[in-house]
Amino acid sequence: GDMRRSNANEERIFVAIRIRPLNKNEIARQELSAWNCINGNTIRLKNSPAERSSSTDTYTFDKVFGDDCSTQKVYEEGIKEIALSIVSGINSSIFAYGQTSSGKTYTMTGITEYAVRDIYDYTKMHTERDFVLKFSAMEIYNEAVRDLLVVDGAPLRLLDDPEKGTIIEKLTEETLTEWSDLQKLLSICAAERTTEETSMNESSSRSHQIIRLTVESSPSLYAGAESSGSLVASMNFVDLAGSERASQALTAGARLREGSHINRSLLALGTVIRKLSKERNGHIPYRESKLTRILHNSLGGNARTAIICTLNPARSHVDQSRNTLLFAGCAK
Ligand code: ADP
Ligand code: MG
Repeated sequence: GDMRRSNANEERIFVAIRIRPLNKNEIARQELSAWNCINGNTIRLKNSPAERSSSTDTYTFDKVFGDDCSTQKVYEEGIKEIALSIVSGINSSIFAYGQTSSGKTYTMTGITEYAVRDIYDYTKMHTERDFVLKFSAMEIYNEAVRDLLVVDGAPLRLLDDPEKGTIIEKLTEETLTEWSDLQKLLSICAAERTTEETSMNESSSRSHQIIRLTVESSPSLYAGAESSGSLVASMNFVDLAGSERASQALTAGARLREGSHINRSLLALGTVIRKLSKERNGHIPYRESKLTRILHNSLGGNARTAIICTLNPARSHVDQSRNTLLFAGCAK
């Protein structure tokens, strides 16, 4: 069965854990950190002073990044190789999953900058092809899709194209010509997300943000005879809603009703990822939510996927952290 293994290897979901440091407030409250990171791929619950036997709460993943790890290290050891596969026409999705305040946005913002920088540099160095880089950004809030490059825009519709799959109608695409364009675009998105946050009461814990980089390329005047024809691929950077929205849903019996606090997209993503990690050729229910429809072409199939699960280190958050580790375990 090694043939299957080697094929599956490329397509397997890369699953990493990142634990953030305790912050000033937590230290002031005398919070203790609950987890030990071992060998770069294992995380174990520390014994509480009351327990005598050693902890059995131990989990192993592709990578475990401790609280002293920089985002650059997370990027280089987990994401860089996936990012650069975009220039060969391979779609990918990178997710940050975890409870609110565990470090999703911090992690995804840094990774997006490193990845776009590397892809941009690659396209400047490889003159044998002509490259075009396009940037778009959207948010899914209550199953409505909004363009993050448009101020107060109307919700966008999803259309089914027989060739391209799901298309987001009227989504803005900005061409990246200068490196500095990226910083401008990222700050527009962040501002758009924050404005809403104050008016809609903490929306970032309930909304999903997707930043999408698309690379189109074709052979240039300097191309050799063996070079491939036109290629197009997208990389999606997905900052998910707080995972507490999914565990609430699960304890409520996973029944989805209009107007409930349950996050349909987060739940549907969990189902898709669980199924993909078991049998990639079975029926995968992409159509269940906006998030999974939008990411359909960048999840499963030949696409590359990485999930970085972020943890709050504090003892008082061990239950939520365990839920996150259980989710991560289902994805690998
Ligand atoms: P989330 O998006 O999951 O709600 P954030 O990314 O906003 O969480 O992180 C919460 C806070 O913790 C922010 O102030 C952020 O700057 C800080 N933070 C998160 N991860 C780290 C880290 N690895 N190192 C230092 N500070 C971090
Ligand atoms: Mg956030």
